[in-house]
Amino acid sequence: MDATLGNPGYDVRHYDLDLRFDPDGRVLDAVVTLSATMTADLDTVNVDLIGFDVEDVAVDGEDAAFARTERDITVRPRQLLVAGQEFSLAVRYRGTPQPFSSASGFPAPIGWRVSASGTEYVVSGADGARSWFPANDHPSDKASFTFRIKVPEPLTVAANGVLVDTVATAGGTTWTWEMGDPMAPYLATVVIGDYVIVDDVEATAIAGVPVRNMLPRDFEETSDPVWRESLARQGEMIAFLTERFGPYPFDAYGIAAVPGAPGGGLETQTLSILGTLLEGVVFHELAHQWFGNHVSVARWQDIWLGEGFATYATWLWQEHRGEATVSDLAAFEHDQQRALKLPPPADPPPSHLFNRSVYGRGALTLHALRLQIGDDAFSRTLRAWVDRYGGGGASTQDFVALAEEISASDLTSLFEAWLYADTMPDLPAGN
Ligand SMILES: [Zn+2]
Repeated sequence: MDATLGNPGYDVRHYDLDLRFDPDGRVLDAVVTLSATMTADLDTVNVDLIGFDVEDVAVDGEDAAFARTERDITVRPRQLLVAGQEFSLAVRYRGTPQPFSSASGFPAPIGWRVSASGTEYVVSGADGARSWFPANDHPSDKASFTFRIKVPEPLTVAANGVLVDTVATAGGTTWTWEMGDPMAPYLATVVIGDYVIVDDVEATAIAGVPVRNMLPRDFEETSDPVWRESLARQGEMIAFLTERFGPYPFDAYGIAAVPGAPGGGLETQTLSILGTLLEGVVFHELAHQWFGNHVSVARWQDIWLGEGFATYATWLWQEHRGEATVSDLAAFEHDQQRALKLPPPADPPPSHLFNRSVYGRGALTLHALRLQIGDDAFSRTLRAWVDRYGGGGASTQDFVALAEEISASDLTSLFEAWLYADTMPDLPAGN
């Protein structure tokens, strides 16, 4: 992972993405406006962007001088921007989106991709937002988003949040989606294809939050029945997670089915992109809406706070479904981790950020914590975690401090051993 990503000196509050996409030529015409607040005095501002021809840049509506490097734009406003000042930065650009290989070791090129069947979709985990829109591309700078996307008929467009408007004009339809809650840039997504947006009335009733899925038009006839079964269970899954970790944090949920999407899926906020709809994957990406999306990582090194928690939540679901007990799943994963000899979960190598230790040993850390402090303190800790840090970000140290506060105990040696020691501890006997 590129440690220089993201830009100090300002805090983005809102991104407005005004996009026109021509699927035949695969050309994106875009005007993206960041509304931000300065946190320092600066005479130049940097924003991350890879590729494209940048046509012009404006600060507060006035043309501004700018220069490109391979990975960002340096903007020189006409006046010094001072700490506390609110400003807007508009970038007009054009070109064909180019996926690239993430330095984080994500298993496939990330960014705006096209599937074998012609679906256009964005998977930006973990540092690929900058390959399709100008962003302060770091999970610590969360913002709300508006997406206005014009495509030719008869294509359907989905993005994060809630569909608020569709307007048909000459040359196509403009779809407007609003993501009103804070979102890290890498979780932004767009899906364009021969799709339908299907409201799941039953799941909505069970979940207490609108559940809508973005599905290929022929999904009902052509998809694997196992996929449709796991999809039908999303309402129950949301209710299960709500009961344990608090209310679903956003205005709507659902998945976009994109067969073949890399990495199995990505927890793009409120609209997970799924390459496969196996039940464990559907559940894992949903659990991320609490762990990783609502509570973001303060630094990429803390990624176990997303992956380890989503993995542990999936063990709880498997136990609930009668597939296996959490103890058995933990014992199995412990054997696997021991054989793999991976680095400890809270210190992943930047070039191998999503190695299995952050998932498996991350989840085992939570299991060990539960065995030490007991079920009651453990479940109160996880609920308090979401309640206290939801909407923002938090670090491993924040989690350790919270667990110690709730359990009224010193957990230094437990966390040191599970999160940082090269050799993984044994599970307590009879776990
Ligand atoms: Zn995950």
